[in-house]
Amino acid sequence: MGQNLKNDLLIEDLQQAAIDFKDEHPTEIIRWGIDRLGASAFTLACSFGYEDVALVDMLLKVDPDVDIFYLDTDLHFSETYEIRDRLHEYFQKEFTRVSPVLSLKQQATEHGEKLWEKSPDICCRIRKVEPLRNYLQGFEGWITGIRREQSPTRANTEVIEYDQTFGLVKINPLAFWDTKQVWNYIYEHQIPYNPLHDQNYPSIGCFPCTRPVRPGEDPRAGRWAGTQKIECGLHNTPLESK
Ligand code: SF4
Repeated sequence: MGQNLKNDLLIEDLQQAAIDFKDEHPTEIIRWGIDRLGASAFTLACSFGYEDVALVDMLLKVDPDVDIFYLDTDLHFSETYEIRDRLHEYFQKEFTRVSPVLSLKQQATEHGEKLWEKSPDICCRIRKVEPLRNYLQGFEGWITGIRREQSPTRANTEVIEYDQTFGLVKINPLAFWDTKQVWNYIYEHQIPYNPLHDQNYPSIGCFPCTRPVRPGEDPRAGRWAGTQKIECGLHNTPLESK
């Protein structure tokens, strides 16, 4: 007998749905989740990067009432805050701000200045992972823009899966889409996007940890450049690190 999730869903149900919906359009994958668990059960994680603006458009066409949140580390580029405001106008949708318990000043007092330089894992835990963990407790499922193509750590991502780290259903509608498919969707639907993408920033995080990529570099090479770090811990975090 499999592990029982909420709404009589079993992990085996998610595994079967992942197979059944692998080749479906992302919109249909989102619809499956909302039909099974209800709109109020879900939230979408939005970083205002290009995958997420496409995903927000898709989600709102399925159900405009689903919650959408962003993790405000207080360290985003000004362009990211500007596109947040523009997207709010464009979609007429509130994006819930999720913030760390510690302000930047408190973090500097407790852990030292520029924690991202000496201990980026701790900084990400304080400013991203713990706020996310707390926020997700109010939901049964979350929707993310991660794709298999983005990094080796995401290469096994399924469109529907059980998130062991946070203990809820995880829907990754773009898991099998490539970069071109996402951009085609954005251009076709004329969705506003972060202008940094046109300045060699294919992946945009906090400004202290993101640089533009050079020709031929991996799209995520600009994240935590010069370190071994490739993930902030929001996805594929091993259970042991809980
Ligand atoms: S990406 Fe950098 S600045 Fe942002 S939370 Fe992680 S370590 Fe801190």
